[in-house]
Amino acid sequence: MSSKMRVRFAPSPTGDPHVGNIRTAIFDWLLARRHGGDFIVRIEDTDQKRAVDGTSEVIIEALKWLGIDWDEGPGVGGPHAPYRQSQRLALYQDAADKLLREGFAYKCYCSAERPDAARKTRSKGESGSDCRCRNLIDAERQALAANGDATAVRFKMPTDGTTTVNDLIRGDVTFENRLVDDFVMLKSDGFPTYHLAHMIDDRAMGITHVLRGEEWLPSAPRHLRLYEAMGWQPPLFAHLPIILASDRSKLSKRHGATALLDYRRMGYLPHALLNFLTLIGWSLDDKTELFTRDELIANFSIERISKASAIFNTDKLDWMNGHYIREMSAADLADALLDFWSAYPPPEIAELPDRGLALRIAPLVQERLKTLRDAAPLVAFLFKDEIEYDAADLVQRGMDAAGTRQSLAAARDGLAALPAFTEDPIEALLRDMAKQRGMKAGQLFGALRVATTGQRVAPPLFQSMEVQGRERSLSLIEAAIERLVSV
Ligand code: GLU
Repeated sequence: MSSKMRVRFAPSPTGDPHVGNIRTAIFDWLLARRHGGDFIVRIEDTDQKRAVDGTSEVIIEALKWLGIDWDEGPGVGGPHAPYRQSQRLALYQDAADKLLREGFAYKCYCSAERPDAARKTRSKGESGSDCRCRNLIDAERQALAANGDATAVRFKMPTDGTTTVNDLIRGDVTFENRLVDDFVMLKSDGFPTYHLAHMIDDRAMGITHVLRGEEWLPSAPRHLRLYEAMGWQPPLFAHLPIILASDRSKLSKRHGATALLDYRRMGYLPHALLNFLTLIGWSLDDKTELFTRDELIANFSIERISKASAIFNTDKLDWMNGHYIREMSAADLADALLDFWSAYPPPEIAELPDRGLALRIAPLVQERLKTLRDAAPLVAFLFKDEIEYDAADLVQRGMDAAGTRQSLAAARDGLAALPAFTEDPIEALLRDMAKQRGMKAGQLFGALRVATTGQRVAPPLFQSMEVQGRERSLSLIEAAIERLVSV
């Protein structure tokens, strides 16, 4: 291709961005980066009824969180600013005027009252030219115009023949024109519909490739006819497979979280989501699962996007997230936990730990996390002045209260005398002690785990003791010994 590739992500700010929309953004961005092209973000906010305040900001935040950068768009500017459609209304108006003048469009005097009329007629399989305003004679038109009612502008679809979309993923897809309605381009409130606005902007912004959800495929013949009427060459289109839940129905809220940033709240890493979402509908070789950001950019191609709908498999996301957590350095994990806990304070942790403590916590939990959210419950004991448990839990199978007291007292004395209070010497001491006392290691460790963490499921015992320090560990063991008096 001779000209530079230009790809855009054009979200509508109608709510927190769905993972499906973000997958489109990721594909757009990867494609542009792969080919040294430009990636543009444009906010499509002309549907005033559906717009939800503040959601453009959330979309931008979601993209930034994933590490997606853009060359033109909100916050960056660019030669085609503004990148917000509500600030570009004159362009759409001009195009509608031109199409009216040249006979490709007509004013509709009824659409404000019955906006769905056209669609209803079309669904009966009748001709696409279904609005009575298409065939008004001049006198009727003037009479209606004299009422001063707001008017919409409809595009005149051909009433026969076919329109073929050359889709980069699906090949040629042919539509019968008679089944496509005379769609509204400009609404009576002066705002354009998506059909007009996106193509005017794609043209103005020099977009070469349009990647968008499969749900737009049936609208593509409208867009091709619009391009033709304007005398413009359309960009290349690729309609992306929809995302299904594991029950093969369309992924929706009833399946769990669908908003991208919900996954941040649930403790997923941005790179895990980037990797995971890229594999929904794209694969390199049907087997490689783990990619760095650079590998995704180097390997992405439209040819490897599948036609078939793709499944959002949460188990795979969990696995991938756990993998990337285990791959982090302890320092990176500590920082990620601190960021996560300060953004979403967990009930188990009253006060955010300092970095020193976070650095000691990270290796304790690293092997056991699927998500960052799993960490706080595991280390809750570190944040309590007094830990709570049922004293009977100290007594392990095959032991009694008196024996448990004696072995805890021996452990206390041994640990007090240990030259270095670190993981390995602690382990060596306690293993040896269990053997000498004729106990199973698990009996001694189990009692100490309850005594020092209050949890049956906790991070590795010796490391946990090291992190708590000698003084606190000894006083917790002492408290356990006292509690056993009454058992
Ligand atoms: N604003 C449209 C949407 O959010 C964009 C579709 C497109 O990429 O053309 O679905």
